[in-house]
Amino acid sequence: MSKNKSSESVKVVVRCRPLSRKEESNGPAGGIVQMDLRLGQVILRNPRAPPSEPQKTFTFDAVYDANSKQRELYDESVRPLIDSVLGGFNGTIFAYGQTGTGKTYTMQGAWLDPERRGVIPNAFDHIFTHISRSQSDKQYLVRASYLEIYREEVRDLLDPNHGNARALELRENPDTGVYVQDLTSCVCKSIKEIEEVMNVGNQARAVGATDMNEHSSRSHALFLITVECSQPGPDGRKHIRVGRLNLVDLAGSERQAKTGVQGERLKEAAKINLSLSALGNVISALADGRSGHVPYRDSKLTRLLQDSLGGNAKTVMVATLGPAPQHYDETLTTLRYANRAKNIQNQPRVNEDPKDALLREFQREIARLRAQLNHRKWRSKQKSEQVEDESWDGDQEKEIEDEEDEEVEKEGEDYMKLEEQRLEREKEAIRGDQDLIPDEKQKLLGEKERMMVDLRKEQEATEQLTAKYKAMESKLLVGGKNIIDHTNEQQKMLEIKRQEIAEQTRKEREIQQQVLIQDEETLELRETFTSLQQEVEAKTKKLKKYLKLYAKLQAIKVEIKDVNDEHVRSRQELEQTQNELTRELKFKYLIIENFIPPEEKNKIMNRLVFDPEEDQWKFQSLVPAESKSSQMKKRPASAVGYKRPISQYARVAIAMGGHSRYRAENIMFLELDMTPPNTASVDCSKDGEPNQSPSVDSSPTKEKGVRKSQSWCHTPKSMTSSPSNVSLAACHTATPAAAQ
Ligand code: ADP
Ligand code: MG
Repeated sequence: MSKNKSSESVKVVVRCRPLSRKEESNGPAGGIVQMDLRLGQVILRNPRAPPSEPQKTFTFDAVYDANSKQRELYDESVRPLIDSVLGGFNGTIFAYGQTGTGKTYTMQGAWLDPERRGVIPNAFDHIFTHISRSQSDKQYLVRASYLEIYREEVRDLLDPNHGNARALELRENPDTGVYVQDLTSCVCKSIKEIEEVMNVGNQARAVGATDMNEHSSRSHALFLITVECSQPGPDGRKHIRVGRLNLVDLAGSERQAKTGVQGERLKEAAKINLSLSALGNVISALADGRSGHVPYRDSKLTRLLQDSLGGNAKTVMVATLGPAPQHYDETLTTLRYANRAKNIQNQPRVNEDPKDALLREFQREIARLRAQLNHRKWRSKQKSEQVEDESWDGDQEKEIEDEEDEEVEKEGEDYMKLEEQRLEREKEAIRGDQDLIPDEKQKLLGEKERMMVDLRKEQEATEQLTAKYKAMESKLLVGGKNIIDHTNEQQKMLEIKRQEIAEQTRKEREIQQQVLIQDEETLELRETFTSLQQEVEAKTKKLKKYLKLYAKLQAIKVEIKDVNDEHVRSRQELEQTQNELTRELKFKYLIIENFIPPEEKNKIMNRLVFDPEEDQWKFQSLVPAESKSSQMKKRPASAVGYKRPISQYARVAIAMGGHSRYRAENIMFLELDMTPPNTASVDCSKDGEPNQSPSVDSSPTKEKGVRKSQSWCHTPKSMTSSPSNVSLAACHTATPAAAQ
């Protein structure tokens, strides 16, 4: 990869957590990781190797041992990156390592303990403190999104129905790179608000996971912050810089495909491995620099991190280690991974005036609302000054624009009050006027009343507009305003000093590393000798150098062996996964061949299409895409007013008469029975009329309800006498009741 002027390498720092209580109780072996903080070196001891075998040494940009503080890591390795993001660069911080080595601790930490707050809460503090301290001509808009990648599906953690939400899709924009379509993004005005966003996401992440740690070790979590800043440039125009920050807590890097996993778990393991191994392949391809193709498209994770690895971003990788001897293999793999990542070159640049800056849209909308408000206020002012000519005068509007907001607002309110008082006075005058005839008086009073209503309406509209304007404006953060109460000069100084110290430490380490390299080189230059003594000395030195080289050679040989072993191991695991998947595939084929009719299978096969964007097979929809939405939403024309589609013939039949076949909606006769209660029937038993219903006959009670029921006994008669009673209208009115 060509190193141009603006390119810089990925910063890699390594952190080792303390031995856990359980590990301590396991034995006196102690940790296998040693760290040289001054040189930024990690020395790894192989617990299984003979003592003669040289220890493995890796050098990084910084290393943090078990005693390191969260604040140290932040000030030294993360603060410069966040500063860059505030200046309009893209930035990424990702934690990589085995489960339980402190990725989440490093990224999030313990929120409530100031000493143990991780990178994310410290970054929130940093961003909002920076905004509150910046100059007042700067305007900021801060947005946050939170997503996770679980089983190769991108899920929005801020979506209220996260559990049921479908997986989101990745899209590519030539200007801004890869982005997640339809991802929720929340505008945050303070630390509290952004922390709330993080909490909501964390809760969504925990829901549905039986064991939070289990879930988090299998999913990748990405917290995205976009900081847009507008500032007047030398040309007098406002320029917008957009910095995007990705804070990534990766899934555990240990090999998941250990023996015994099947079904869902196997697929999950295969997919986690897919994302992480794709990440490994991308890092290798970039670090190698010779291979032209970088397999970003192999997984969702690598596509989302495309800009962070080899693209337009500044990146810090925090590799986390555990010191326990039983995890030697994983620790070594993590260190190798991290070591490779050091060689990746990025080309970060400031994102100036991008087309999709939301801040610009906000500013436009605010300006529009402000103009509307000003126009209203100008009108009020004009009216209050009793100016007849209502033509629009831009200069006067400008004048109003320049006035203080509150002043204009107050003036508007005053005008409204005065106007109301005036109308009241006029109404009183009309009432008191004896010369007017009552009709005219009423008319005039009505007119004044209408004017009052109009005035109130206008007042309400202005209030609504003002509220909208204020809500929009409050979303933009303006520099110089103290949005954080605990900031004071002392704290500011302390932070600056801390920053200076961190910078100093970093420089010192760099110099030490360079001195070490130069020591080896200068040895050769001092070869000029005059005496035998000097010759002996020189040759001894040379010998020492060769011995050193020999040691290096041995180390490299061991390394080669390790790498080979690792390859063999990972190949075996991949083979195992492949075998499992093949077995499952065969099983599914068996089911298809034996239980699904060939024509059904063909139908399904014909509907399948491959989506290269999503990298998966999809079903073609049965309804053509363009007409789908309109077609599905509209009710068929024939069904308007009916419960279900009905033919023209049936409609006519219903209208014509009550053929029972077309009384499908309601076969009962539900019209109100208007016949008066028949008291005569009670005496019927005495008369012994033959056509009397026995139920009524035997009825001992004379209650109205029972007697009324008799009229139902007559319904067949009334139906035959007036069949047209079963009208369409009856059908209609009865339908809702019947439906219930
Ligand atoms: P991961 O996210 O990598 O799976 P966690 O961050 O959950 O690991 O850490 C596992 C445990 O180790 C937690 O209980 C955490 O508090 C502890 N831990 C990790 N790193 C440190 C550290 N640097 N100092 C103290 N405790 C740590
Ligand atoms: Mg974790």
